[in-house]
Amino acid sequence: MSNKRYFSPELLEKMLAKLDNSIEKYEIGRSVKGLPIIELKVGYGKKNILMWSQMHGNETSTTRSILKLLPWLLHTSQSEYLKTFSLYIIPQLNPDGAKLYTRHNANNIDLNRDAITLSEPESLILNKAINRISPDLALNLHGQRTIYGAGNTGKPATISFLAPSADENRSITPAREKAMKIIIDIKNGLSNELPDGISRYNDVYNPNCVGDSFTSSGIPTILFEAGHYPDDYDRTIVTNYIFKAFKLLFKSLVKKSNNNSIDDYFKIPENVENFTDLLISNVDVIYDDKVFKKQQIAVQYLEKLNKNKINFVPIFKKFDNRLPYVGHRYIDLKGKGIKLFFKYNEEVKDPEHNKLFSLKTNN
Ligand SMILES: [Zn+2]
Repeated sequence: MSNKRYFSPELLEKMLAKLDNSIEKYEIGRSVKGLPIIELKVGYGKKNILMWSQMHGNETSTTRSILKLLPWLLHTSQSEYLKTFSLYIIPQLNPDGAKLYTRHNANNIDLNRDAITLSEPESLILNKAINRISPDLALNLHGQRTIYGAGNTGKPATISFLAPSADENRSITPAREKAMKIIIDIKNGLSNELPDGISRYNDVYNPNCVGDSFTSSGIPTILFEAGHYPDDYDRTIVTNYIFKAFKLLFKSLVKKSNNNSIDDYFKIPENVENFTDLLISNVDVIYDDKVFKKQQIAVQYLEKLNKNKINFVPIFKKFDNRLPYVGHRYIDLKGKGIKLFFKYNEEVKDPEHNKLFSLKTNN
């Protein structure tokens, strides 16, 4: 169970009330269910940055990182950044999804596939913000599941970046090149702490995705995906890394010139789907009235909202003699003679061994 992963509209309101008065706060529209969507403004420079988080309501780490960024930015030693940039922040673009801990909005639409149709009030609000602010840089802030690894490093993808494509050919347009060069600076700045935990998201062009759409229209855009760090199911560690990534971003933006080679962007390992939360070995599986001896079982936790906390429910994913997954955790049941009734995509229910498969977090 985690009490940190849920970031509701109520919690946001509470946190925003505590912010320094120098940060402007105003409503820029309402969600499907009528919840206010708030924008913050800090800094008074000529260069505009627009960032938005919780476009997917259950991706909360980057919202938590924004709340670390704001007080840091107001510190006098960061005055150069406040002079140079005007930072516009929409901390929770999808409050209805945030409330229910869902990816989609209240009309069950994925707002990051609505860039062309603009069928949703939340999509129109983001679009209006883009037109009003005409940002020099856009930051599209997301969170990703525990299933991703950073290439074949055997390490989870703790942070993934993407300089989205602007067209089918994935051309390196000036906007895309700018995003790539900034990503390289952030990646290099984090390399001591996260040598193998940074990856690059797939760049197949999809004009329905907002990042692709904005890059296409000439706005450099960076996608951040806050992912998993070993044992960090509360996502506290990655929240700090994203905060560090923001700091490195500002450092990169005030450099006189950025001579990074885009080859270094393509050297960042790509995200691969090769992880599972729990890999159990040497268990006899009963499936479809047959017994399969000494199998491996992959278990993935499903995040379920329950009384303002997130429960991690173990779900059967796959079994085989040998599975192609790296486990965030391993259990070897050799010699224990344990048999499990396997049901695809169903909860691991075994009264005798339930504790074995449940996730323990600090909270
Ligand atoms: Zn997302």
